[in-house]
Amino acid sequence: MNELIKKAVALLESDSVQVIIGYAEGTGTRTRAIFITRTADCENLIFDSRCVQNLAVYLTKSEIKKLGKPAIVAPIPVLRSILQLAVENQITENDLVVLGITPQSELVDFESFAAIEAFLSTHQIVIEEKYQETIREIKAMPVTERFAYWVKELEPCFKCYACRAACPLCYCTRCTVDNNQPQWISVASHPLGNLEWHIMRAMHLAGRCTDCEACYNACPMSIPIHLLTKNMLQDVTENFGTYGPSLDKLNTLSSFKPDDKESFIR
Ligand code: SF4
Ligand code: SF4
Repeated sequence: MNELIKKAVALLESDSVQVIIGYAEGTGTRTRAIFITRTADCENLIFDSRCVQNLAVYLTKSEIKKLGKPAIVAPIPVLRSILQLAVENQITENDLVVLGITPQSELVDFESFAAIEAFLSTHQIVIEEKYQETIREIKAMPVTERFAYWVKELEPCFKCYACRAACPLCYCTRCTVDNNQPQWISVASHPLGNLEWHIMRAMHLAGRCTDCEACYNACPMSIPIHLLTKNMLQDVTENFGTYGPSLDKLNTLSSFKPDDKESFIR
């Protein structure tokens, strides 16, 4: 993407930003995140279908903030996460320059978060039919069977927390699972500990998850944790009518309306 490289060089040369957060070749056929502070290194920037890491995860990291104002390469999942971080007051428009990438791999400038929101309104989150079918099948199971299903699926989890580290919306500096006084979530990766961890993770992302799948892609055990967050996305939509981040709406689980449904209370 020559256009992307030219833009990155211009931004660094003019000192409009001090670091470019983008993608570069990694090991083998993999790509990796790159943090460019010198114009000479901009030629390492790439963008193609292998670039699936959600770079928005770096916007809240103190190590990256220390480098100065960033420009971030932002395909659709990254744009959604930027908007959600804005909704949660984690970033402001003055904090960054967004180098948007359309599904056709075209570079697009965004003047404001509102412009990102307008763009995303024509690129809504769509849960693929294959996932919807799996979710329907799981939901149709009797409760005991469904419980056994998830105990088995989560069994390989050894709590490396790579899924948490890859998620742009898991930005707390101290996570509940790391807290041992009091210890809310068991640190052991036994069936109960794994269930507690994954229920907590999914619930904390309800109404916030932007369906980027970075958590699933990061899991060394290929545990289908994205099914949990996709299901939460669908449930929140069906019950509260929100689908994806919106600048003028409060987060579902941190807001209350008198006519909110209570059908989940059984
Ligand atoms: S929970 Fe997973 S899919 Fe959702 S925003 Fe975080 S990394 Fe992306
Ligand atoms: S990345 Fe996979 S193995 Fe690691 S904590 Fe998350 S679900 Fe468990």
